Amino acid sequence: MTDLFKRCVAWVTDSPVTLSTDAAVRRELWSALALAVAGLGAGGLFGYPWAGLAAALALILAWHLNKSRLLYRWLAHPESRIPELGGLWDEMIREIHRADRAKARHKDLISSLFERLQAAAAAMPDAMVVLSQYGLIEWSNAQAARLLGLDVRRDVGMRLVHLVRNPALSAYLGAGHYHEPLVLKDLSGGHVVEVQIIPFGDSQKLVIGRDITHLVRLEEMRSHFVADVSHELRTPLTVLRGFLETLQDSRVTIEDVHGNLALMQEQAERMQRLIEDLLALARLETTPPRSHDEMVDVGALALSLRDLATALSGERRHRIEIDPGGGFLIGNREELRSAFTNLVHNAVRHTPAGGLITIRWHIADDGGRFSVEDHGEGIAARHIPYLTERFYRVDSGRSRASGGTGLGLSIVKQVLVRHDARLLVDSALGSGSTFTCLFPLSRTQRAQAGA
Ligand code: ADP
Repeated sequence: MTDLFKRCVAWVTDSPVTLSTDAAVRRELWSALALAVAGLGAGGLFGYPWAGLAAALALILAWHLNKSRLLYRWLAHPESRIPELGGLWDEMIREIHRADRAKARHKDLISSLFERLQAAAAAMPDAMVVLSQYGLIEWSNAQAARLLGLDVRRDVGMRLVHLVRNPALSAYLGAGHYHEPLVLKDLSGGHVVEVQIIPFGDSQKLVIGRDITHLVRLEEMRSHFVADVSHELRTPLTVLRGFLETLQDSRVTIEDVHGNLALMQEQAERMQRLIEDLLALARLETTPPRSHDEMVDVGALALSLRDLATALSGERRHRIEIDPGGGFLIGNREELRSAFTNLVHNAVRHTPAGGLITIRWHIADDGGRFSVEDHGEGIAARHIPYLTERFYRVDSGRSRASGGTGLGLSIVKQVLVRHDARLLVDSALGSGSTFTCLFPLSRTQRAQAGA
């Protein structure tokens, strides 16, 4: 009997029976027994022992019924004051109350866990959308707003394919084969998104969208680059092949051979320059910057650049002036020399014979400035933003004819980036150009007085 009571308490309160419950049950049984015996005795005194027992049992039953009524009333309104029922009933109420508090704690724990999960999903770099079995949006994160144009709050309950209007997405969602991801282009924000769908639960779906815009652009750049290099190499190779075929002709005279040899050499040199520039660019892009920093005496470098310009100018007799202020640049001597040489090369190439070219270097309060100014053909403003792109030429024919590879300013830009510097181009069509490299003060060192 005690055991039955205990199990009742455990069932109602959904908590293990404690020692105090055990004692309360025992107390309750003893008092019921005492009352029954008292009823039996009192009834016996009047000659009706069974009627006395029945009255005592009825009294016990009525008392418990009343307590269970009060308990029921409190359970219906748990916010009301906890009733004082006494005995086992108090014990029951205590257990119910304890179970309630444990449930509330569990609820808090689960909701804080859920909030943390939501916060983690919101912080994910990928877009995430949970779809119901009917394809309606149940939840989405901030990245879904950025990549797919969804509104985290407003679009709950809406159909995803109505908001992201893309036939490929509708077909993909409908097909139900999600082994291969889907690449979505032409989205409103201009992103390229790789969509993966993971079915879960009761026909629900988790849609994950990864931003691959950058990867796609890189891939496009890579294939353009391969096409450009192939094109650049094919032209001199075609010329060389043509010459070789001509030379195989039995009617070719020794004069023809001599005439063609110079042109063949020129094409071979062009290919060599292109390959050297490509290798220089690859080196700049793959080796870590600041690996070989040293004190570079830019004044002395400017002097050697003047000699180089004079040699390049040759018969065209440009006037080369230098204004070599003192001070040093902290950087890689060979990289800086290659960048400055490219600027001097361009100035000589794009300035008519006898024109003035000035090479300047000085350290000001805002940093170091190395510039090459020419009085050549100049560059139209619309070309200036693209000059440092690989193989960009204002006039392709003229650039190739003058020996340009189309990579000179790309190399300059890479070198400057590695020296925390930037390139300024000041040019106007017909009145020459000034290319200035701006170095931060941290990259300069003024010459010591008396040094
Ligand atoms: P290239 O090897 O063809 O000179 P660059 O990358 O060095 O390639 O230069 C890109 C283009 O910028 C050149 O084709 C040329 O049209 C233009 N350019 C560069 N420097 C000058 C300059 N000093 N004057 C006029 N145009 C220039």
